Amino acid sequence: MSKCVCMIAEFRGGNFRRVSFEVASEGKRIADSLGLSLCGIAVGSGVADKAADLGRYGVDKVFVADDPALENYVAEAYVPVVAEIVAKCDPAVIVLPASVDGKDLGARLAGRLQAGLAQDCTEVVCENGAVKAKRPIFAGKCFAWCEWAEGALPVISCRPNVMDCFAPMEDKRAEIEKVDVSIPAARSRVTGVDLDTSGKVELTEAEIIISGGRGMKGPENYALIEELAGLLGAAVGASRAAVDSGWRPHSDQVGQTGKVVNPNLYIAVGISGAIQHLAGMGSSKFIVAVNKDPEAPIFSKADYGIVEDLFSFIPAFKEEVEKHKSTCS
Ligand SMILES: Cc1cc2nc3c(=O)[nH]c(=O)nc-3n(C[C@H](O)[C@H](O)[C@H](O)COP(=O)(O)OP(=O)(O)OC[C@H]3O[C@@H](n4cnc5c(N)ncnc54)[C@H](O)[C@@H]3O)c2cc1C
Repeated sequence: MSKCVCMIAEFRGGNFRRVSFEVASEGKRIADSLGLSLCGIAVGSGVADKAADLGRYGVDKVFVADDPALENYVAEAYVPVVAEIVAKCDPAVIVLPASVDGKDLGARLAGRLQAGLAQDCTEVVCENGAVKAKRPIFAGKCFAWCEWAEGALPVISCRPNVMDCFAPMEDKRAEIEKVDVSIPAARSRVTGVDLDTSGKVELTEAEIIISGGRGMKGPENYALIEELAGLLGAAVGASRAAVDSGWRPHSDQVGQTGKVVNPNLYIAVGISGAIQHLAGMGSSKFIVAVNKDPEAPIFSKADYGIVEDLFSFIPAFKEEVEKHKSTCS
């Protein structure tokens, strides 16, 4: 098989995560620029039935490893399987999601393949047949462009919610090749994985996020933003101060030591805007801040700033949203 661009999809809980389609779209743009085809790697349990859908986002051919042992991401099982498939497609470039699992997989895969890894990229361009990738550094304070030496294999993880996703081509299906892979048994020290199936909107994939900080004063007050989030179809996030206080789980934390998010709308409520928080949400497309302190640093990043006590603003805003929804329905 001649060289191709290879995208690695992320399949969880019976579906591809949205970031997979973003990565497929980005892979297609790169493949078109380099004059190559786009192949996909889909690994998981029950993934075979859905793999052809990747064709809607430009993938020509998908290599599928479908096995119950691959239901959840466990590095010891996934990495050898993906590496075996990569050897089959002989890629010129590999793109994958910069999700928690994707970053782990990308690093291990690059190590195994002796490839060059650029994590959490926000832009990829092709110049004179070579790729260049842009990634945030120093907690998002500046950006670095990465280039690869001739002959080196670029492995590029793409930050969720950044790369434009194609409108799906409804009638396009990818060719499928099922791969019999040997899953290394009993090599993993992980014997059971509990997957959170609470149905919450995943922070890194949410289009709207409302995050609460220390200004929320206590865990009981998060009901305020949870109700508003319910009305807006938003996910709820938190600052580290709120997480460290035990008000919210670490999975809600946005920032340098939490999740990097990129929603269309980020509403920061009672959050001062420390650099470590901005590192996780500063590239959101539209930022609204609610803070009673007009000097709070979050306002320097916000598109809209509301200087008000959150305990009067949030209920009033919620009431307006409810009114608006009832007149629209
Ligand atoms: C290595 C390192 C990593 C870190 N990683 C992270 C990270 O990943 N994420 C993160 O968030 N932080 C992180 N931090 C912590 C960060 O430096 C800040 O301490 C933290 O973000 C502060 O959280 P906060 O804004 O909720 O609290 P505060 O800074 O205490 O701000 C609370 C804000 O609420 C406002 N407020 C209070 N009451 C009201 C009210 N009634 N109405 C409206 N506004 C009100 C106040 O004016 C204030 O601006 C990290 C720090 C370090 C050193």
